[in-house]
Amino acid sequence: MKIFRSFLLLLMLLLSYVGGADSTGLKTVVIDPGHGGSDKGGEGKDGLLEKDAALQISLSLKRMILNDMKLKVVMTSESDADIPLERRVALANKSKGDLLISIHTGASYSEKSGGIWIYYLDYEEMRKELASGEQDNGNETAGSENEENDLSIILKDMTHSDYASEGAKIAELIQKNLTEIISDQKITLKPMPALIMKDADMPAIMIEVGNITNHEDAGRLRNREYINRIAGAIAKAVKEYY
Ligand SMILES: [Zn+2]
Repeated sequence: MKIFRSFLLLLMLLLSYVGGADSTGLKTVVIDPGHGGSDKGGEGKDGLLEKDAALQISLSLKRMILNDMKLKVVMTSESDADIPLERRVALANKSKGDLLISIHTGASYSEKSGGIWIYYLDYEEMRKELASGEQDNGNETAGSENEENDLSIILKDMTHSDYASEGAKIAELIQKNLTEIISDQKITLKPMPALIMKDADMPAIMIEVGNITNHEDAGRLRNREYINRIAGAIAKAVKEYY
């Protein structure tokens, strides 16, 4: 089985090398406002809710993309509603989206931490985690169920590694465009295997705009002009990618 797996990994590397350079043909952007309904997300001391800030940024982003680009925009939620994560991903996939942008705010317990975080998928990191898990097990007779599980991850990896590298590109473009308009906040890129990104059949990123429990960040998120500036920078990144 080890030889078989090595063969698969080799095949996968080859495929990603051969098939990685295609243009994406961006037509449909899916915007996912984080949380909603009874799921409030993070909550600031002054009462601002993550779900409300995320919806405002998402709606502003939708308007800007529609005004400026010949793209279709699909929202996983258009209002403050309870929509489970699985349904959001299913909707994104059903709408044949070419790019998924999930909007959140951070909600750290530390009020001091602030700034903007942009998350993307990195299969190299996930592969390393998988490999170190196997070594920890150190058990050659792990059983066919585990082998099947590994295989499905590897196969999914093959179909999704192109999406992941495109997602990383978009994440970088968003960071670049946000850095151009924001000088007083740290903007961090970070790999993270979030479900909404892993299960999406398209490049996907997640962005946390500020930490809602941080007083200054919450103040900014209440400001309509700031919301529009953030949405504008994300839209500009989409345009550059497009
Ligand atoms: Zn959130």
